[in-house]
Amino acid sequence: MISLTFHGAARSVTGSKYLLQVNNRRILVDCGLFQGRREIRQRNWEPLDFDASDIEAVIVTHAHLDHIGFVPCLVRNGFNGVIYSTPPTADMADVLLKDAGHIQEEDAEYRNRKKITRHAPALPLFTVEDAKKALTFFKPAPFGQWIELGKEIKFRYHVAGHILGAASVEIVLDDGDRKKTILFSGDVGRFGVPLIVDPAEPPEVDYLVCESTYGNRFHPPNDLFFAMANLINEAIERKSVLLMPAFAIGRTQQLTYMINVLIQQGEIPPIQVNIDSPMAVKATEIYCKYPGYHSVNTDALDDDPYVLCDKNVVLHRKRKSSKLLNKVKGPAIIISASGMLTGGRIMHHLMQRLPDPNTTLALVGFMAEGTLGRKISDGEKLVYIHKQRVEVNARVVHQSGLSAHADYLELMHWLEPFKTKPDKVYVTHGELDSSQAMLERLTDERGWNCMVPELDQTVEL
Ligand SMILES: [Zn+2]
Repeated sequence: MISLTFHGAARSVTGSKYLLQVNNRRILVDCGLFQGRREIRQRNWEPLDFDASDIEAVIVTHAHLDHIGFVPCLVRNGFNGVIYSTPPTADMADVLLKDAGHIQEEDAEYRNRKKITRHAPALPLFTVEDAKKALTFFKPAPFGQWIELGKEIKFRYHVAGHILGAASVEIVLDDGDRKKTILFSGDVGRFGVPLIVDPAEPPEVDYLVCESTYGNRFHPPNDLFFAMANLINEAIERKSVLLMPAFAIGRTQQLTYMINVLIQQGEIPPIQVNIDSPMAVKATEIYCKYPGYHSVNTDALDDDPYVLCDKNVVLHRKRKSSKLLNKVKGPAIIISASGMLTGGRIMHHLMQRLPDPNTTLALVGFMAEGTLGRKISDGEKLVYIHKQRVEVNARVVHQSGLSAHADYLELMHWLEPFKTKPDKVYVTHGELDSSQAMLERLTDERGWNCMVPELDQTVEL
């Protein structure tokens, strides 16, 4: 008996959690947090539909919270197996999960202090200690190498692009009667973007679980460096403070790299880049540790480590230093997390700077339904941050080309090497209209048999 249950990222983009069962053996592919709307986030607090202590292993695809952020909770619920990840993902998980635990604790403390909680007292979903414990379960697995988990299950990682160390997972399942192969796409990156490697050719398999974040969208072709230079030159001309919300890991390095290249090439004048994130230094060290996993070669890093450490870059690790940024006048750039405006230091910058028409807010990534980033992206002029009314008078610009996710054309291109139809394709990790659009495209153009699974639905393979 081989089955697959979609415990997350089904008709939504967050909470990736796929349970594979072969006879009585169970593993998870990804173990992510639900993020966005309150009803969605609420699922993080609900009892699990399976027994965490029955799970032998978790195979994670990459170090984004919606793919690994639930791991500390799984461990707290009794998981006692192995968590596999690529080596860079393991290093980044170390930084990311501790930080997430810290943010959870800080957030709960802030809500209790300001008495803005409906739960008394507000509790963190997990703590730094939970994160530290979870990290002891990680075991790195290199790209391309088969890892056997007994005779029923073996897997190997393929390069997915997206962020440093991101992977698709190919798994071979054998229940004694039948042998089936399945590929989990993970998050598939774009082709030819700065700093990030292209996704590798996927292996042909019987079953495919394919993401569809941008299943109905297309990133207009533009020169990303050119667009970034325009954005910054305009901000300089307007003496504007350019706020760039960005994931501390990955996106921050990409932005800083691009800005520093533009300064070196004389496309923009030297401008102060403030990185308001205690994680940024650690994350950059990880980029330097794994030169083979991104597109900037080692020599460039040695001669001139302009991924992050340029003289124009000011790092703000401590909260006091972050607060001083409130006084910064334009032109200047502030890069701060979180990327979808769901928490972290960016919230304080937004509270202070959104009402100012001279602020430019650059939205560079995917904004999930229900997040503050999505509301502002949709043009809302009045938002609430920490229960305070905040007017949005700032100029809001979109830089969708810098998305870490492939659009539908790139997804179709990624799937081109498939010569034989998979038996079935499960379209996941997208809001319903995106997943539906991807399903129609795969059905019409490739004649593939697809479905968009429902949350918690189980299918037999
Ligand atoms: Zn991701």
